[in-house]
Amino acid sequence: MKPPAANRFRDTWAGEVDASRAGDVLRVSGWVHRRRDHGGLIFIDLRDRSGLLQLVFHPEASGAAFKAAEDLRSEHVISVAGTLVERAPGNANPNIPTGGVELQVTEMDVLASAETPPFPVDEEGPIDENTRLSNRVIDLRRESMRDALLLRDAITREMRSVLAENDFVDIETPILTRSTPEGARDFLVPSRMQPGKLYALPQSPQLFKQLLMVGGFERYFQIARCFRDEDLRADRQPEFTQLDIEMSFIEEDDVISLMEGLMERVFAISGFPVPPTPWPRMGYDEAILRFGTDRPDMRFGMEIHDISSVLRSSEFQVFRSVLDSGGVVRGINVGPRETPRKELDDLTEQAKRGGAKGLVWAFVQAGGVWRSPIAKFLSDEEMADVSSALGASEGDLLLIVADRAKVAADVLGTLRLRLGKIASHAPTHVPLWVVDFPMFEYDEVENRFDAIHHPFTAPLGDLDDPASLRSRAYDLVVDGSELGGGSIRIHDPAVQSRIFEILGISAEEAQARFGFLLDALKYGAPPHGGIAMGLDRVAAIMAGRDSIRDVIAFPKTASGSDPLTGAPAEVDERQLLELGLKLA
Ligand code: ASP
Repeated sequence: MKPPAANRFRDTWAGEVDASRAGDVLRVSGWVHRRRDHGGLIFIDLRDRSGLLQLVFHPEASGAAFKAAEDLRSEHVISVAGTLVERAPGNANPNIPTGGVELQVTEMDVLASAETPPFPVDEEGPIDENTRLSNRVIDLRRESMRDALLLRDAITREMRSVLAENDFVDIETPILTRSTPEGARDFLVPSRMQPGKLYALPQSPQLFKQLLMVGGFERYFQIARCFRDEDLRADRQPEFTQLDIEMSFIEEDDVISLMEGLMERVFAISGFPVPPTPWPRMGYDEAILRFGTDRPDMRFGMEIHDISSVLRSSEFQVFRSVLDSGGVVRGINVGPRETPRKELDDLTEQAKRGGAKGLVWAFVQAGGVWRSPIAKFLSDEEMADVSSALGASEGDLLLIVADRAKVAADVLGTLRLRLGKIASHAPTHVPLWVVDFPMFEYDEVENRFDAIHHPFTAPLGDLDDPASLRSRAYDLVVDGSELGGGSIRIHDPAVQSRIFEILGISAEEAQARFGFLLDALKYGAPPHGGIAMGLDRVAAIMAGRDSIRDVIAFPKTASGSDPLTGAPAEVDERQLLELGLKLA
C-alpha cells in the first residue's frame, strides 16, 4: 500500500514495516488483535487493513502508556507512537511479514473500547454462518474475509483496466425499470407518484446495453447489479453482480477472444492456473451426450456413453421397450469401487428423484460376467459388448439408465458429479466454451417454446422450423460452473418480431413490453453481441470458497433475508398508504 498521509492517528501502515526502518519513530493505528503479558512486558498485535505489527509496552520506557495497556482488550481501537526495533533473532515471528521487528511504544491514545466480540477475530475456526452474518463487522475483520474482499477488488480493477485498454466505456443503466427478459421472477417496486404502477428491478442490463449499441457507443461495460426473485436453492443470491459487456460490429470470435484475454489476466492475479488460450469449445449436444449437462466439469473423465445400439435387439424387456419408444440406454463406468448395497440403493433413489424409472448397477466380474440384478436377462455377449462400450474391466462398477434422452442425461450427469473424483495429476482448472446451443426448449407442460438463453439471442437456421433453430450463444464454463454467458443478438427488427411470435408473445404484447427495443432496431442497429460474467462466482472460485456469500460483503441467507439489518422487514402503515398498498 502507498504510505498513508501522516495525521494525528498514523503515518505508517502497521503491516508494511520492516527492518529497513529500524530506529524510526512511527505512529500506527488499528485494532488490538491479540494481547499477551510476559514477564512485566505487555505485547499487543496491532491490526490494520495492511496486516499485523507487534507492539511492546515496557513498565518504564512506555510510561503512562504501559498503565493504559494493562486495560486493553481485544478489538479496542488505539493509536500508538514509538521506536521500531529489530527483534532478537530467537524472538522473530516467521508467520507474519513484520515478524522481524516490533514497535516499542512511548505514547498511546485509546480511541475506542470494544465489548467482547461474539467470536474471536484472531482465529479462523468454523463459525455458524448466521452468527457470522448477524455480526458481519466482526466477521469482516477476520483475515479470510479481508483477503476475499481485497481479491474481489483486485479482480474488478483488473477487469476495468483490460476493458479501458480496449476502449470500453463504463455506463450505468437504470435500477428502477421495466421487467426485463432473463426469465426469472421480477422484484417489483410500487410507484408512489403513479399509483397502480410498478417498477421492476433489472434481471440484467440486457436491453439497455443493446440500446447503447444502437446509440452508437460501440463498446460498453458495467459492473452491474442484477436482481432475480428466484428460490435460492444452491449458491444463489437475490441480488448479484455481473461484469456486463456489449460490443458492435463483432462476431462470436471477437467476444470469445476478448474474454479469454480478460479472464487470463484476471486469473493471473491470484495465480489461478488455467491452460493457455484459446480455450476449447464444445457443442451443446456433445456436452449433454458426454457429460449430461451443458456445463461439464472436465477435471475428470467418467464420461457418459450411449449404449443404445449395443442393446437395440436385446430380449430384456425394460431396455427394449424404452428403445422401441424412442428412448436411450446410457451408462457410466464408475471404475473399481467397493459399493455396499446401501449406497447402491441410495444411488437408485437419487436416480429416481431425477425422474428416472430406475437405475441399473452392475459389477464386472472375472470372465466378464456381471454381478447385477439384470445379469440373468442379458446374454453374455450383450454384457461383454456393454462392458467394452464403457471401457470396463474386472471390478468396475457400471451404472446404466434406460429412459428418455433428457432424463438419462440429467441423471447420469448428476451421478457422475457425485461419484467422480479429480485425479491428482489432472489439470487444476479446466475452462471450456459451450457453443452451438439450441435456440428453444419445448416446455411440454405449458405447450410452448422457451428461449434457452433469452429472446434477443440471434438464431441460426430456418425461422419457419423453430424446433430446429440453433442460437449464436456461448457460455464460459470452468470446473463445472457457468462463469458467464452471452450471445450475438438479433439486430433485424423483423427477426426479433418473429422470435417473439414463436415464443407466443403477441405483436401487441411485444410492443407493450419491448416496444422501445423494437423501435430502436428500426433506426439502424449495428450487428452486436456481448456477454455477462458472474462476478461473485469468479471471485469465489479464485478465492477457493465454496460459497459466493464469502466474497460478498453483505450477502443474504438462503431464505433471502439479511440477518444483519433484518431485511426484508415490515414497513410503517403510513408508507404503505402513500403507495396505495394494502397487504393481503
Ligand atoms: N443478459 C445475459 C444474462 O444476464 C447475458 C448476456 O446475454 O449478455 O444472462
